[in-house]
Amino acid sequence: MTSATDQLAIRARDLSKSYDEDIALDHFNLDVWEGGLLTLLGPSGCGKTTALRIIAGFEGAEGTVDIRGRRVLGNGTFVPPERRKVGMVFQDYALFPHMTVRANVAYGVSRGKGSRRIDAVLELVGLQGLDDRMPNELSGGEQQRVALARALAPKPEVILLDEPFSNLDAVLRDRVRRELRVILTEARITAVFVTHDQEEALATSDIVAVMKDGRVLQADTPAELYSNPANPWIAEFLGDADVIPATAHRGYADTPLGRFKTDLKGPVLVVIRPENVQISLGEASNAVVANVEFFGHDQLVTLAVGGGTRVRSRIGPRPAYTPGQKCRARAIDARVYPRGT
Ligand code: ADP
Ligand code: MG
Repeated sequence: MTSATDQLAIRARDLSKSYDEDIALDHFNLDVWEGGLLTLLGPSGCGKTTALRIIAGFEGAEGTVDIRGRRVLGNGTFVPPERRKVGMVFQDYALFPHMTVRANVAYGVSRGKGSRRIDAVLELVGLQGLDDRMPNELSGGEQQRVALARALAPKPEVILLDEPFSNLDAVLRDRVRRELRVILTEARITAVFVTHDQEEALATSDIVAVMKDGRVLQADTPAELYSNPANPWIAEFLGDADVIPATAHRGYADTPLGRFKTDLKGPVLVVIRPENVQISLGEASNAVVANVEFFGHDQLVTLAVGGGTRVRSRIGPRPAYTPGQKCRARAIDARVYPRGT
């Protein structure tokens, strides 16, 4: 018999974990489907590392974890990390400083059948030829690849990566991110990645699970999350958004930037992304340019509209706008939420 949950690489239910007064996870639920890359995205301290450590088996918790349909935590079960078939790349890489690259990668592989596998993994991550180097003789990007190779060498079913790019400078980060994606696809492995960087999450993942205060609030594809966030907090966390309080009646919420359809009634919040705000000159004005940030490929124009409300408009680099200029602003798309969410 097969069921939908058979295709789940990881199924975490109701995970709760506290440290003294601190609640690290609070009824955390997560489904990770086989293959592909899921990112746990949330602000610092929301419980991302704790969730990974519990899934990998470095910590216990209340609740259950199943890996490929096998219970590894909960109901009296605790499978130790080395028997979970989960590889983990730690945020600081945690390489053994006194061991060569090869010895680091060989660490979790049983002697004898290891050598071929290690060659294959070193090649997969592009480290062939660096076998005999020590970790302190490698760049940050290379160290990260050693950590990845070490996690992949025992052929885990799932790999967990905690903020894998946080120790790399901005230029290197983009390149390593693309390389990692290719390596994981080639290795045909399910990956869960942790980050607090929304742009990184949107650009890299098949599914993003947004976390706050120890739980997952919403999990979906990057495009779906970005355009249909479950609440205004997620909208603002996942990119630029302005939130305008308004009142809804007879199927619409009215704002200075236009009216938007909604089934809600009474006080609402209208969330507008800057790229959905258009500006034009020479029409009856409803806004004044308050600030302009010019980025070359585009510009972000902050507008003061009725009632002291500020909204931003992200538009092409031309025409140039100047503070004090009167213009007409309208939003071509918005999401309406009940107030208090
Ligand atoms: P994140 O990785 O999202 O930044 P963490 O999972 O590291 O968050 O931490 C979640 C919360 O749990 C934080 O408030 C943190 O201070 C607390 N915490 C995590 N690990 C420990 C620990 N070993 N001892 C005490 N508190 C901890
Ligand atoms: Mg962390």
